[in-house]
Amino acid sequence: MSALVFLTEAEPPRGEPFWVAPGIRRLVADNAGPLTYHGTNTYLIDGVAGTTVLDPGPDNAAHVRAIVAAAGRKVARIFLSHGHADHAGALPALVAATGAAVFSFARGTMDGAHEGIWTALHTPGHAADHLCFARNDGVVFTGDLVLSFATTVIGPPPDGDMAAYMTSLRRLLTRDDALYLPGHGPSIADPHGFVAALLAHRMQREAAILQALCAGPRTVPDLVAQLYVPLDVRLRASAEATVAAHLSKALAEGRVERHGEVWSTAPQRT
Ligand SMILES: [Zn+2]
Repeated sequence: MSALVFLTEAEPPRGEPFWVAPGIRRLVADNAGPLTYHGTNTYLIDGVAGTTVLDPGPDNAAHVRAIVAAAGRKVARIFLSHGHADHAGALPALVAATGAAVFSFARGTMDGAHEGIWTALHTPGHAADHLCFARNDGVVFTGDLVLSFATTVIGPPPDGDMAAYMTSLRRLLTRDDALYLPGHGPSIADPHGFVAALLAHRMQREAAILQALCAGPRTVPDLVAQLYVPLDVRLRASAEATVAAHLSKALAEGRVERHGEVWSTAPQRT
């Protein structure tokens, strides 16, 4: 089993996109943070009808100006991976500036829908409305489903869903893709190995949570303090959300019980 090795990179250029693959440029928004890394990636993808912009990014006028300036020719359309503010905040301003058509789950871009060389894959888990956009040449824009610099935050339902996240990862494993371009962080050149390691990491985390509950009932903060060592205090809330998502999945599977804020293992039924 391959180990999970995250990818880091130097501070990327600001305000100007740079090439990450033939015909594909990446523009990093100015919203760095522990969950967003250097910032949200906006991709500018060349096509015969103009530029496709994938994820407008946060609501930031300078970022929108940089997108429009870099697109040069007509913005043919806008693809949206999901509706979180760090990806979709600039959508109204970009639509106003370009008049481009929007493809997103909310706008009815259905799972498996084809648009020329593109296929939209409905991949919930991080967000209920999450789409990955796959090209038929093996390039997949993974949004926040698969990040390169860290694990994705999976919150409890309704927006997050750990079981759906694992199903979405397994779905990616059935594909034979060559390159992932994520919503935050650098490109992933070994998609299959990376996703397999992510899935293994999640299953280990789930096993560790259930193991900890075998020693006695615990709250979510108890579990985070026990399992996330050392814990970056800036990431405490997202660690708690992820543990809660694991517990919600285990509850649905009948493996744990919840009494208020206290979780325990479910009695074995014979
Ligand atoms: Zn997100």
